[in-house]
Amino acid sequence: MSALEANIAKANKYLARFREQGVLNQIGGEAKPSCDGTTFETISPMDLRPLANVAHGKAADIDRAAKAAKRAFPAWAALSGDKRKALLHKIADAIVARAEEIAFAECMDTGQALKFMAKAALRGAENFHFFADRAPEARDGRVLRTAGQLNITARAPIGPVGIITPWNTPFMLSTWKIAPALAAGCTVVHKPAEFSPLTARLLVEIAEAAGLPPGVWNVVNGMGEDAGKALTEHPDIRAIGFVGESSTGSLIMKQGADTLKRVHFELGGKNPVIVFADADLERAADAATFMIYSLNGERCTSSSRLLVEEPIYAKFTAAIAEKAKRIKIGHPLDPDTVIGPLIHPTHEKKVLEYLTIGEREGATIATGGGKVEGPGGGCYVAPTLFTGANNRMRIAQEEIFGPVLTAISFKDEAEALALANDVPYGLTGYLWTSDLTRALRFTEALEAGMIWVNSENVRHLPTPFGGVKSSGIGRDGGDWSFDFYMETKNIAFASGKHAIQKLGG
Ligand code: NAD
Repeated sequence: MSALEANIAKANKYLARFREQGVLNQIGGEAKPSCDGTTFETISPMDLRPLANVAHGKAADIDRAAKAAKRAFPAWAALSGDKRKALLHKIADAIVARAEEIAFAECMDTGQALKFMAKAALRGAENFHFFADRAPEARDGRVLRTAGQLNITARAPIGPVGIITPWNTPFMLSTWKIAPALAAGCTVVHKPAEFSPLTARLLVEIAEAAGLPPGVWNVVNGMGEDAGKALTEHPDIRAIGFVGESSTGSLIMKQGADTLKRVHFELGGKNPVIVFADADLERAADAATFMIYSLNGERCTSSSRLLVEEPIYAKFTAAIAEKAKRIKIGHPLDPDTVIGPLIHPTHEKKVLEYLTIGEREGATIATGGGKVEGPGGGCYVAPTLFTGANNRMRIAQEEIFGPVLTAISFKDEAEALALANDVPYGLTGYLWTSDLTRALRFTEALEAGMIWVNSENVRHLPTPFGGVKSSGIGRDGGDWSFDFYMETKNIAFASGKHAIQKLGG
């Protein structure tokens, strides 16, 4: 039996329960169908066949989940940081124990390759370990003295929060948002993406089996326009942590206005990788290739715009095209696969439309450029490189969210910076140069929340994660996550008998 056949057999074993029982919501510690009994199908992008029927939650389901989260909040918030720490570590260990099941379900639900999803499952556990360790100090504040007054600041969890996640790497992203909320002492209602709901179900089961009290973490599946909207409008939900498209972020801000929701948005990107002629070009080419073609290009931090200094443009883009041609497209469970099928036929259609748009705009397809036949006949798109593009083209301005790279040449540093900043987004930037002074100058002026110099995206969990402009509001990571999930309170104590103004005698 080949490694792929063995993996398919294992995946079938893991997926059987979803096929038989469907994917239920989790409310107040109980698995529940939707209130009106309706379901929707989740399909595998590998062969477009249904994987499971999913509870189709709507406003009534969200209401029940929000009330369960509200009921569970006082006891969870009152639990000591040490106890929360111990419990979150237990959840992390349980994720590791079931990492293979999680990775296989994720691959079949999203089309992402096992090569990356195996790591993403373990990163989910790391997220829990990381925030578990910080739970005991989440409430700590500062002491600020002034003459005659002692100010003590303290933080308290904000209350029940809503978490809304996208489909691209749903397991990892859910842990990244939910672990700090729980560590802070908040209770959660999670609305996973409708295209990839399987691993959110596994995650809440794992957490409750590890001892998380009922109602602390609730999951309601459904569409954005009903379940998602109801969550953002619910009066018992104090804040919304959202990861998804920029346009959805705008909608959520409007929807949450009446209940004055605190929002944290991690949104789209059109991230530049800027390559100067003095860079280590071999490493730069590897990093640029990795950052656009890993995770099917369905990655918010992907380097989807390649800005290259003119003298090396032809050689550098030719090197990327060669690498792209050699990338293995295949079954997501094949250990050698780099690019699997895109999430859904509607998304595949969008990505393919951009290929037509790019050609119509006058860019050249240096490699790729269309659909590929892959195992199961699913949504496979070839890794594509556009050369001869300019920054006014839609393929240079809009987030395609697929394995499509748009290469543009620049003459000098000033032009590189102008091109890099001339998009609505500002999530990440990747700069390649061996000139330190230029790197300092350039990164200071580059409009992005996260910048890597001479590196691909390498995450360090204590560092802030988030974007500027249309790429987001707020930061995750380290203490920044707690600032979002907690309220800061200041209490001032008089330390003597200072003079109080006497009004009225
Ligand atoms: P999306 O905005 O379509 O959906 C995300 C989630 O929002 C889903 O759960 C969806 O059901 C829900 N939703 C949709 N409409 C809603 C509404 N009116 N009210 C409440 N919820 C609603 O995004 P997607 O297509 O699932 O994901 C891809 C996008 O996510 C890309 O733009 C990508 O860049 C972005 N993303 C960003 C980050 C980041 O950290 N910045 C990470 C991953 C993905």
